[in-house]
Amino acid sequence: MKRNEILKDRISVREYAADNQKFVIEEFTDSISVFNGIKMADIEGKGEIMAAMAEELGCYLRTKGIEARFVERISSNEILCLKTEIIPLEIVTRNIVAGSMAGRLGIEEGLRPGNTIYDLFYCSPELENPLINDHHAVALGFAGYDELDEMYSVARKVNGILSVLFDRAGIALVDFRLCFGKLPDGRIVAASEITPDTARFWDKETGERLDKDRFRMDMGKIGDSYRSLYQRMKSVLQ
Ligand code: 5GP
Repeated sequence: MKRNEILKDRISVREYAADNQKFVIEEFTDSISVFNGIKMADIEGKGEIMAAMAEELGCYLRTKGIEARFVERISSNEILCLKTEIIPLEIVTRNIVAGSMAGRLGIEEGLRPGNTIYDLFYCSPELENPLINDHHAVALGFAGYDELDEMYSVARKVNGILSVLFDRAGIALVDFRLCFGKLPDGRIVAASEITPDTARFWDKETGERLDKDRFRMDMGKIGDSYRSLYQRMKSVLQ
């Protein structure tokens, strides 16, 4: 499939139009950024690990009945995806308190709540992707209540499937962010990949972080940790 014009130019992922209108091509770059692009670096081989992880998890979730925009990996660092109408909402599913939730509520990272937490964010970089709720989303016309139910249901299923998978590799799926898109027939599908850039993964025994927090927190060994996460995931997928 040929790559045409750039549709989205983000630091770690670029989206291109494909020559077939039904698809888009996602290219994972070697770059990493946090704090709205204020802190950036290049990690050799990162794009390839991200594409490999997107492929493995995309295929695995498909076998479990999760509908997503992922179609297939088409090169070392590119994947083919179905073109969807993007819904400007993200659900962050949290099994363990970390990151913005810990900061916002003054809770120490690592607390395991008795229930899974689902945070709804409005994707608006200008507004720094604010936390909103279902009623805001409906009032602003981003989705109906039934569509929100569908999105929470997908997030819950993905969480169940991937928590079990990573647990087998001795890794806790702490949280992850999921975006959604609408297919031409109106079906809502998962429209982002689960990678260490969009999810938190902690080693269950040592608590070692295997995700983007290593970069946020200047912990180093980012490439090694991403590779280790991928290898451990792959070993339990076989
Ligand atoms: P938090 O809300 O705690 O900062 O992030 C929750 C989860 O969503 C983390 O796994 C984090 O990596 C992911 N996440 C939050 N914001 C973004 C974002 O703007 N882009 C991406 N790719 N992932 C995000």
